[in-house]
Amino acid sequence: MDVEDLKKSPGREQLAAWLSTEDPEQTAQLLAAAAAAKRETLGDAVHLRGLIELSNICVKNCLYCGIRCANTKVKRYDLTDAQVLQATAFARDARYGSLVIQSGERTGTAFVKRIEHLVRKIKQQTNNELGITLSCGEQSYETYRRWYGAGAHRYLLRIEATNPKLYAAIHPNDGRHRYEARLQALHNLQKARFQTGTGVMIGLPGQTAYDLADDLLFFKDFDVDMVGMGPYLEHEDTPIYELRQQLLPQEERLSLTLKMIALLRLMMTDINIAATTAMQAIDPFGRERAVLAGANIIMPNMTVSGVRHNYQIYDHKPGIDDDAELSKSHLEENLGKMGIRIAWDEWGDSKHFYKKREKFAPN
Ligand code: SAM
Ligand code: SF4
Repeated sequence: MDVEDLKKSPGREQLAAWLSTEDPEQTAQLLAAAAAAKRETLGDAVHLRGLIELSNICVKNCLYCGIRCANTKVKRYDLTDAQVLQATAFARDARYGSLVIQSGERTGTAFVKRIEHLVRKIKQQTNNELGITLSCGEQSYETYRRWYGAGAHRYLLRIEATNPKLYAAIHPNDGRHRYEARLQALHNLQKARFQTGTGVMIGLPGQTAYDLADDLLFFKDFDVDMVGMGPYLEHEDTPIYELRQQLLPQEERLSLTLKMIALLRLMMTDINIAATTAMQAIDPFGRERAVLAGANIIMPNMTVSGVRHNYQIYDHKPGIDDDAELSKSHLEENLGKMGIRIAWDEWGDSKHFYKKREKFAPN
C-alpha cells in the first residue's frame, strides 16, 4: 500500500485495507503523511474551543449514552445563565478564541429561545471576540436559522454511524431516533449556513472496517467542514453495555481512531478535525496523539466542576474533578510536552468552508 495513493480519491477497499493493517511501519507512514498534509495546509498550531456542557437533560434515549433520558441514576442539571457567562469570561481571559455549547437534546420554545438568548449575550459580552459552535442536537431548520442569526456560526451534529443498519442497532426504534431525520438535520445546518461538523463513534459493537471506510466516504461526499470522531466507550448503565464482550480492546479503538483521523486528513486536507476527549479517556496523551495524526482542534472543558460528574456520557470520563483552570493547565502541559503550539485568540474557522463559499459565490 502506498500512502501517496490516498491523496487521489481513495475507494472503499483501499480505505478498509488501511484501517485493517496491523503493520506498525505502514501505520507510522500513514500518520506522518497526515501530519505533513496538515502542516502544509493549516500550519502546525491547534485551535481551541472552550467547552460548556450546558445541560444533561435530554429527550433522546441513544443506547450508548450515559445521559440518555431513561438513565434514572443521573442527576439532571441545567447551568444558569450566570454560570454560562462566567465560563465565557474564562474563555476570553484564557484567550481560547472560541467556545462550544453542548447539551442534551431538547426541543420546545423555551429551550430554543434560551440558546438564542445565550448566544446573543455571549456575543455582546465579548464584543464578538469569541466564535461560537453549538452542539445541541437535531432541531428544525427554523431553529437553526434563529441560532445562526443570533451569532453562532459552527454546529456539530454527529451522524454517529453512516450505515443505517448500524445506526438502527444503536438507537431505539421509537420514531424519535431516525437516521433520515439525522441526515435531514445535517442538510438543514448546511442550508442555514453553518460551518457544519459531523462525526462517528469508532469501535461500536458490530462495526466493520468497511463501515468505517464508508463513514470516511460519507464525510467527503457530504462535503463537511468539520469532523469530530472518537472511540465508542462503554457506559455501564446503557443497553449496549451488554455487548461489551464484542468490543475491541480500548487501545485498539484508539489506534483505529488515529487511523481514521489520518485518512480523513489526507482526503480532506483543509477541514477542521477535532482531537476528542474520548481519546484522552483511553490515553492521557490521546488528544495530543490525534493532533500528531492530523487533528487541529481541541476542546478544553470549562464546565463548572460541581456538575461535571453528571455529564458522564461514558464511564471514566477524564477531568471530571477539574475546574476550567486545571483543564487548561493540564492541556497546556501535555501539548507543551509533545511540542504542539496553540493558536491563541483565533477563531480557527474551517478553511474548507470559506474555499467552498468562494467557489460558489456569484461574481
Ligand atoms: N445531544 C447532542 C447530540 O447527541 O448530538 C450533543 C451531546 S452528545 C453527548 C455528544 C456526542 O457524545 C454524541 O454525538 C456521541 O457521539 C457522543 N457519545 C455519547 N455516548 C458516547 C459513548 N458511550 N462513547 C463515545 N461517545 C459517546
Ligand atoms: Fe442525548 Fe446526545 Fe446522549 Fe443521544 S448522545 S442521549 S441525544 S445527549
